[in-house]
Amino acid sequence: MKIIFMGTGTSQGVPIIGKKRGSLDLSNPKNWRNRSCAHVEVAGMKIQIDAGPEFRIQCLANNISSADIFILTHGHADHIAGMDDLRRFCDNMPGNVLPVYSNEYGLERISAMFPYALGDKPASPGYPCFKLKKMPAELHFENGVKILSDELPHGPVKTLGIAIEGEGKRLAYYTDCHSLTPRAVEMAKGADIAVLDCLKIAPHPSHMNLEAALETAKLLEAKTTYFTHMTSHIDYGVYEPKLPPRVHFAYDGLSVEI
Ligand SMILES: [Zn+2]
Ligand SMILES: [Zn+2]
Repeated sequence: MKIIFMGTGTSQGVPIIGKKRGSLDLSNPKNWRNRSCAHVEVAGMKIQIDAGPEFRIQCLANNISSADIFILTHGHADHIAGMDDLRRFCDNMPGNVLPVYSNEYGLERISAMFPYALGDKPASPGYPCFKLKKMPAELHFENGVKILSDELPHGPVKTLGIAIEGEGKRLAYYTDCHSLTPRAVEMAKGADIAVLDCLKIAPHPSHMNLEAALETAKLLEAKTTYFTHMTSHIDYGVYEPKLPPRVHFAYDGLSVEI
C-alpha cells in the first residue's frame, strides 16, 4: 500500500495570495502547500482522493495519470474545484467513465458544478464523465480491497472520512473535520497510517487544531500518523521536531509505502 500526499495545504493554499508571510520560512519547500488531496495505491488499484484547484499541477509533479475510482471527501472548493481535470482519468477508463464516490453533500456539489459530466458517456470526446455513487458504509472490491466510511462533523457540513484496507494494511484519511465519530475512531484504531486534519495552532470551529489532532493521534494509536490541511501558522521546521514519536506533518510530494 502506498499513499502520495499530492497537497497538504488549507483552503487558500500556503502561502496565501498577497498576505504577509509572518515568520513562515518559505525557503523550506515543505512550507509550500497546495490544496489537500492524496493518491492511494493498493492491491493493483489506484484511488484518488479529492481534486482541488492545483490538481493538474499535482498530477504532473507526482506522475499520476489515472485512478480506478475517485472519492470526494466533501464539496468545498479546495477539494472539488479541480475535478474537470479528471477528464484524463476518464480517458483511461472503460467507456471513458470514472466511478465517483462521495456523501450526499459532495454529490450535490458535483451535480451543481459539473452538470456536463453526468451522462452515460462523455458529452464530447475528451470531456469528463462521472458515474456518481453514494459512498456506502462499507465498499468491497473483487481484489479484496475494502473501504469503510463515516461522515465527520465539519462546521455546517459533513466530510467523508474513509479507511482503506488491502494487502493486510489499513490507512485512514480524515481531512476537514472538527472531531471523529465513534465509528471513525474504530475504523482507524491501530491503523498502519492515519491521516488527520490539523489546521493550525489556535482552535477553529470546523477543523482540528494541533492540540486536537495530537489528542486524536494518541487515541487512534496508528503505527504512523500524518497531519494535513495546514495553514501558514504551522512552520514545518519549527513544529515537526516538537511532535511525539510516529507523528509527522505531511508535506506536498511525500510518498509513503508500507
Ligand atoms: Zn479543505
Ligand atoms: Zn472543507
